[in-house]
Amino acid sequence: MKRAPVLFVGHGSPMNAIGVNPAREGWNQMGEQLGNPEVIVAVSAHWMTKGRCVRRSDDNPQVNDMYGFPPELYAVHYEPKSSLEVADKVLAALGNKAQVKNEWGIDHGVWSVLSNMYPKADVPVVMVSVDLKASAEEHYEIGKKLATLRDSGAMIVCSGNVVHNLRLVNWDMDDGYAWAKGFDKKIKEFILAGKFEKVVNYADIDDYRLSIPTSEHFNPLLTALGAASTKDEITVFNEYCELGSMSMTSYVFQ
Ligand code: ZN
Repeated sequence: MKRAPVLFVGHGSPMNAIGVNPAREGWNQMGEQLGNPEVIVAVSAHWMTKGRCVRRSDDNPQVNDMYGFPPELYAVHYEPKSSLEVADKVLAALGNKAQVKNEWGIDHGVWSVLSNMYPKADVPVVMVSVDLKASAEEHYEIGKKLATLRDSGAMIVCSGNVVHNLRLVNWDMDDGYAWAKGFDKKIKEFILAGKFEKVVNYADIDDYRLSIPTSEHFNPLLTALGAASTKDEITVFNEYCELGSMSMTSYVFQ
């Protein structure tokens, strides 16, 4: 079986899920380019838990965890099935680092992306949470454990944003602030140079406080880098900023 890729996907505004926008176009094209994997293991910035959790069930109830958006967005229906077998493999790979929790489902951080990458909902998805208490190093290590699943055809999709500052969002801006673009570019340089440890040590990078005021959207990137290998070929897509303080830059490692 061909080794499945790892993705880090910037999801940005929930509104990217619908209508005409570059994020959606990029997701659509990337889904077509990569084709259907056997299964997706999805790590979502929007499933924040104490400790690392895995949903172990055969379904994925949709969670509309966004508020105050137009009705068209809530009309999106996306509930791919899950896989008990793969959930067990994820739990085995994570060992004592994870527990089963079935209170959550597929949240907008994941469905906004996957409903455009795989609109037929024909790829099973196993959801994994982001541990609120874990260190940057631990998020990276979790990725290394998940990497073993790639050999059995599981695509690892980590959804968040490299730059994510809700307090400074400017709904009138299509582009990003200079500091946001600068931080995003620095991260890209480190990733393309295979210097993943520099990304783990992001607190050494200029403007990290503005870019990552809270780390839940950034941590999925660390997990993706852990699951990637420096031998992987890297593709950058959706490389732009929106709303001033959000970067959409996304990566495929394969
Ligand atoms: Zn988000």
